Amino acid sequence: MVQLQKPKWVYMGGKIRPWDEAVLHISTEAVTRGLNVFEGLKGYWREDNTTFGIVAMPRHFARLQRSARLLYIPCPVDYEEFEQACHDLIRSLYQKDRDMWLRATLYVVEGHWGEGTVADLVLTAYHQDKTPPKTIDVGVSTWQRSSDISISPRVKTNSNYQVARLARVEGRGRGYSEMILLNQWGRVAEATGACILMVRNSKVITPPPSEGRLESITVEIVASICASLGIDFVERPIDRTELYIADELSLAGTLAELTPIRRIDEYELPGKSPILNQVRTIFWNAVRGIEPHRAVDLSMVLGKPMD
Ligand code: PMP
Repeated sequence: MVQLQKPKWVYMGGKIRPWDEAVLHISTEAVTRGLNVFEGLKGYWREDNTTFGIVAMPRHFARLQRSARLLYIPCPVDYEEFEQACHDLIRSLYQKDRDMWLRATLYVVEGHWGEGTVADLVLTAYHQDKTPPKTIDVGVSTWQRSSDISISPRVKTNSNYQVARLARVEGRGRGYSEMILLNQWGRVAEATGACILMVRNSKVITPPPSEGRLESITVEIVASICASLGIDFVERPIDRTELYIADELSLAGTLAELTPIRRIDEYELPGKSPILNQVRTIFWNAVRGIEPHRAVDLSMVLGKPMD
């Protein structure tokens, strides 16, 4: 059984509170319609544990605002309040040698069918191992990524993760921890919690957001790293069968980082991943502040742990 962490503190209603106080009323649209938008942010210690930086905070906040706007949810905080709240929560929970993943959610706590909508910013943060992600096997799901005329894939809302959950359950039964979702045209959209990167003919390729992938910040980072290495980075539709004959495959996401893929359905990949390994090394050194790269901006959390 998975054992979810239960951190001591959360941020809700404008302040840090004990975990058990973070409750929503059953009558809210956050509960009745599962209405929320969210972001997942990653914070890394530098290798020597001297500083802690959260990756791409302005871009995460901007995407949270875009998701909220598309679902008619007013964003209750500005960037400065958002950053301060994230820093306060991290400072209350962080421990040396443990990175953190922070979930920032706007839950709809007042309003009805889009009238009088009020949202609350809730932050939860969880400890993460400092080790890079291990190579995984993935499958292609029979479930379909939603399309722009239902719940747009560019909206990071829990509704879109209902299908992702179905795909994960399907995958678990087949021995896969991640699954690839196809779009309404039968082409590749993304994984359930990350985008997909494919290498063919020395080019790094990913589908554009209009193929049903999230407007991913990690993909933006990868594109910029590729530019600095002189590697071609291309956004174009990808057929399912191209994944099976790819030279290299990787997940790309804040939590997934750049997880290498060894096998997809019954197809084993060549094994070596020379191009994406170069990108991985630069990504890793940049997020850890070892070798800064213009693709990765860090919001530094200053100060000692709070207790
Ligand atoms: N797609 C989905 C469905 C995701 O949940 C994520 C993680 N946020 C991504 C892609 C990758 O986006 P990002 O690189 O911004 O984390």
